[in-house]
Parts: sequence; structure tokens; C-alpha cells
Amino acid sequence: MHNDVKTIMFTEAQIKQRVQELGAQISRDYAGKNILLCGILKGAVMFYTDLARSIDGPVEFDFMVCSSYGSSTTSSGFVKIRKDLDSDVQGRDILIIEDIIDTGVTLSKLKPLLLERGANSVKIATLLSKPSRRKVDVPVDYNGFEIPDAFVVGYGLDYNSRYRNLPYIGVLKEEVYNH
Ligand code: 5GP
Repeated sequence: MHNDVKTIMFTEAQIKQRVQELGAQISRDYAGKNILLCGILKGAVMFYTDLARSIDGPVEFDFMVCSSYGSSTTSSGFVKIRKDLDSDVQGRDILIIEDIIDTGVTLSKLKPLLLERGANSVKIATLLSKPSRRKVDVPVDYNGFEIPDAFVVGYGLDYNSRYRNLPYIGVLKEEVYNH
């Protein structure tokens, strides 16, 4: 598996350090509040569990599975919820936890939906963001790293359902895509 990786963009130690910083910031910003952590499966799972452990304060866990349809490169794409939250979000302070924001389409649909359902606040935490790819403006409240336009895998992110268990974020060798 490691042989398929061309370059490591962020090491395990760099990710750990950054996630701890984000956790400390979130703990300060939400002091005295009970946060509903809304994880977007499957890619966010590693970031979710590490970030949750770095937040010093009460949180509740919930998860969603979404698929984007239509062109992923236009803002006309729409988002289907394949697994919804179990929680009633009325009056809740929600922190959406995402692996990576690319075009922004997914989150541009999700955030208004949760507000429509009566959430008190909805903020977004993402481990990675590719600002150069953005088609829809999405305000990101907590961003781990800004990255260039490259397809990355590892730490939850997949290629063809593989590589999610790499402990770092990396870029695959070209020949992996040609198989
Ligand atoms: P958006 O709606 O922002 O375009 O879509 C974000 C989703 O696209 C992410 O949750 C992720 O599933 C997928 N994605 C975007 N860029 C990458 C990437 O570089 N690597 C992987 N593995 N998935 C990506």
C-alpha cells in the first residue's frame, strides 16, 4: 500500500498537531455548549474521531452519508442524503466535520438544510480545503490545511475505496490510476 504513494503531503505527526490546535480552538469557541458533531461519512471518519478526542467539553456524535449528483464541477450538482442524522437538530449547535472541501457543492447544500430544520448554529470543520477548485462559496470555520489542486488519499480519504487506512495524507503514483 505504501508503495503506491508518490509523495506524502502531511505526515501523521503534522496531522496530529494540527488537529489538536483545531480542537483547542473549538473548545474555546464553544465553551459552555453541548456540540452536536455531524460527521460526513466515510471520508471524515479519522478526522472526526481524532478531533472529537481533542475537544475539551461535551459533544454528541451523529453521522450523515451524502452523495453528490450531477456535474461535480458545477454548482448545479445536487446532494442526496443517503443516511440522515438520527438527532433532532432543533436548537442544537452543530459542527459539520468534513474530510475535504473541493467544489463546495456538498456543504453549500447541507448547511442551509440544517438551519432550515431549526439548528441554532451550524459551523464547518474540514481537515483539507482546495480553494482553487471552489465553485460555490462556503464559509469554513475551522480548516486544517489548504492544499493545491491535487487528488489526495489517506487518513480517511479513498481512491476506489482503498487507502483510507493510510495514517498520512499523500498523493498516489500515476501508474496506480492506470490499472
Ligand atoms: P465538494 O462537494 O466540496 O466538491 O466535495 C467534497 C467531497 O469530494 C469530499 O468529501 C470527498 O469525498 C471528495 N473529494 C474531493 N477532493 C478529493 C481528493 O483529493 N481526494 C479524495 N479521496 N476525495 C476527494
